[in-house]
Amino acid sequence: MHNPDLVARPPNVARGSTTGPPPPSFTVLNPADGEIIDWLPEADAEDARLAVERAAAAFADWSGLSARERSACLYRWAALLRAEQQPLAEQLSAEQGKPLAEALGEIEYSASYLQWFAEEAPRIYGDTIPAPDRSKRIMVTKQPVGVVAAITPWNFPMAMLARKAGAALAAGCTFVGKPAHETPLSALALQRLALQAGIPAGVFELVTGSDSAAIGEVLTQHPLIAKFSFTGSTRVGRLLAAQCSSTVKRVSLELGGNAPFIVFADADIEAALDGLMLAKFRNAGQTCVCANRVLVQAEIYDEFAERLRQRMMDLQVGPLIHERAAVAVRQLVADALFVGARQLWPPADHADGLGRGNRVTPTLLADVTNSMAVAQSEIFGPVVPLISFTGEAEAIRLANDTEYGLASYLYTRDSARLWRVADALQFGMVGMNDAAISNAAAPFGGMKQSGYGREGSRYGLDDYLEIKYLSMGGL
Ligand code: NAP
Repeated sequence: MHNPDLVARPPNVARGSTTGPPPPSFTVLNPADGEIIDWLPEADAEDARLAVERAAAAFADWSGLSARERSACLYRWAALLRAEQQPLAEQLSAEQGKPLAEALGEIEYSASYLQWFAEEAPRIYGDTIPAPDRSKRIMVTKQPVGVVAAITPWNFPMAMLARKAGAALAAGCTFVGKPAHETPLSALALQRLALQAGIPAGVFELVTGSDSAAIGEVLTQHPLIAKFSFTGSTRVGRLLAAQCSSTVKRVSLELGGNAPFIVFADADIEAALDGLMLAKFRNAGQTCVCANRVLVQAEIYDEFAERLRQRMMDLQVGPLIHERAAVAVRQLVADALFVGARQLWPPADHADGLGRGNRVTPTLLADVTNSMAVAQSEIFGPVVPLISFTGEAEAIRLANDTEYGLASYLYTRDSARLWRVADALQFGMVGMNDAAISNAAAPFGGMKQSGYGREGSRYGLDDYLEIKYLSMGGL
């Protein structure tokens, strides 16, 4: 359920006003039933420029606060999120489509990043370095980079913003965010709570609109922006990184993934199945760290497939974000079946088939090969392709045979193998007998075409800080 009072209305909007022509607006839909749950005024390039100017004007005061003062604001922000966890989760679930339990988890996950960076803000240490000359001293200080712009996706509408803004604000930067037009309400609620937490106007700005290309051009090219951070698809990330080059902005990219989930014959199969259900079906398969290819050693392939099929028989997942996304997922399944995959679930006579509208029936495919489109694409839906391998070398080769390098998972009881394979995987994150890898204490990010930069952990501040070297002579 969406409660309009939860969101900060963008400026200049007389909601429900009956005087004058209505401003251009865009609608927010509930993916579960297609109903309109709200409308918002369209921000355009000019609104984006104004937001950047407000953030630039707020920078001197915000960066001039002590680290403890900024930290206190972030602590309050986290506490406010937790205090409103239930209504915020209901709103998030309504605009994004994930089940309420997962939405509750996302609010807590968002608060955990704000809290983490509240804790990190007072620990932005510099350094002293022995100078080559006795008459000198060398010092290193860290300073906020300046105004940060960020564009975030719909699959974690609050967490992706909180993760970036928490780090940016802790470092002393001000922030302009553009949430996905499908899910602006959680972002606007986050903004309302920022103000309530005592974060001054201008420090956490938002631009909500559906013309993402026009807004994106401003956020990637405006000379007042020092750093650009993006979470979204690799295709759009490439484009935006290129746009940032004209003003040489610092860039961080959290892009798509194609996570291998490797199960060796010596694994605890029950634990691997538990992990796979979590890593595959959260958010109906719409996360960048979702298991995308399941590599199973030949000796246990049939047993694993059957036990997984049984678990999937009663599984219910929520809708995908829109019908276009569901059609693309069903197309990947159809393509795989055409080129030789076997459909283990759902059965051919299943009442819902592969799903309708924006719903996709959880689907299990056997006899998949790594060259099939379903194995090379980011599926972003509740489909499990099973690939068989014989030995460790083949598992590593298949796992790394992708342009992506975000998350990966492996299950084995052999501890030497656990370390060997983890070292060989070309992924920024490796779950070793673990499928719940994302938390505020850990550096989240990818290799290869999954992007660069890390979010969360003590490393998460680095992207928002300049290193300045001070050389003092004449001693
Ligand atoms: P997307 O199409 O790349 O969109 C992401 C964001 O970029 C949205 O805010 C979108 O705005 C905006 N955008 C799209 N085209 C743009 C353009 N030409 N200029 C400026 N902005 C533009 O990705 P998505 O389909 O929404 O999200 C799913 C993708 O995000 C997946 O690939 C997933 O793996 C990735 N993801 C990565 C991480 C990570 O941490 N690595 C986390 C979550 C998701 P509009 O929607 O308003 O057009």
